Amino acid sequence: MTADVLVVGGGISGLACARRCDEAGLLVQVLDRGRRLGGRLAARTRHDHPIDLGAPYCTATDERFRAVVNGWVGRGLLRPWTDTFRTAGPGGLGGHRQGPMRYAAPRGMRSLVDDLAVGIDAVERDVRTVGPGRLVDGGLEAAHAVVLAMPGPQAVRLLQAEHLELVATAQQSYSPGITVVAPVAERTWPDFDGAFVSGLPIRWLADDGASRGDGAPVLVAHTTPELAAAHLDDPAAAIAPALDAMRQVLGVGLDAPDAFAHRWTYAQPSEPRDATFALSPTGIGLCGDGWSARSKVEAAWLSGDDLGAAIVERLR
Ligand SMILES: Cc1cc2nc3c(=O)[nH]c(=O)nc-3n(C[C@H](O)[C@H](O)[C@H](O)COP(=O)(O)OP(=O)(O)OC[C@H]3O[C@@H](n4cnc5c(N)ncnc54)[C@H](O)[C@@H]3O)c2cc1C
Repeated sequence: MTADVLVVGGGISGLACARRCDEAGLLVQVLDRGRRLGGRLAARTRHDHPIDLGAPYCTATDERFRAVVNGWVGRGLLRPWTDTFRTAGPGGLGGHRQGPMRYAAPRGMRSLVDDLAVGIDAVERDVRTVGPGRLVDGGLEAAHAVVLAMPGPQAVRLLQAEHLELVATAQQSYSPGITVVAPVAERTWPDFDGAFVSGLPIRWLADDGASRGDGAPVLVAHTTPELAAAHLDDPAAAIAPALDAMRQVLGVGLDAPDAFAHRWTYAQPSEPRDATFALSPTGIGLCGDGWSARSKVEAAWLSGDDLGAAIVERLR
């Protein structure tokens, strides 16, 4: 296929960019190395219950993204979950902390990316190089623009010596994370939606059944970057300390023989950026959640949408 725009990376930023270009009439192809689109909005289904392995919810403060979220709510892809989480620590659940409305996805957050991808050509492909010019893997030529919609360290690996300036722009450090999922036989913990945890090897704990609205007895924890860094080669080793932390927070025994772990080598960018994307004079674009003040679904969508608009303008 000869595309106007090749988007490498099928997470929410890549699909937001692809959607914007597609709607302007450009021919777009998305390449992602995963079996499914979604990136850090990946989910795993267990007994018909989708479990988010990455972001469990999104917020919507920007007007443009709010309109998209409202559309998803209207079609049942998102539901308003809660505006109140708990704090927690070694002593258990603490106070309530109010914030913006958090929207959860009954079918998993990946369903949002699948929705953006409707009608867009997406191919499973592990891209190795971009260059010279816009030549993808030395063969898949002819795109007027190539977008790298992924964490900076992954983009840097694809860029060649002739993209020196872009490489410098893409450089960014990311911290790792491990998600530990604990399906249990029954709900024995006090009612809560989610908790920001400190003083333990997990930083977040959520009642996945509460977020989904189906009451499934599944807990999901995100480890601290420190615990993740210690177990990146063997993420299953993070399960025991994460389960211990969950027991301390909830004050109950948890028997979770089917618990499993998912590794995120690049979970969160460590430093914020002001610009929402980069687009080189040669037509190579960079977008993703690293292009924002805070790593969020909303920021990744805005980054991809902004880059898409700039490409449309450039190619017009
Ligand atoms: C554990 C965790 C919890 C989070 N919690 C929240 C939350 O509660 N709320 C919130 O708003 N945000 C949260 N986030 C952040 C949010 O998930 C991300 O900001 C967002 O999903 C990033 O999207 P992206 O498109 O920028 O990148 P990604 O989703 O990482 O997409 C990049 C894509 O590029 C592909 N790719 C990479 N290299 C190549 C290659 N060489 N060839 C082909 N394809 C390639 C990958 O397969 C991937 O699909 C969380 C993230 C994590 C990891």
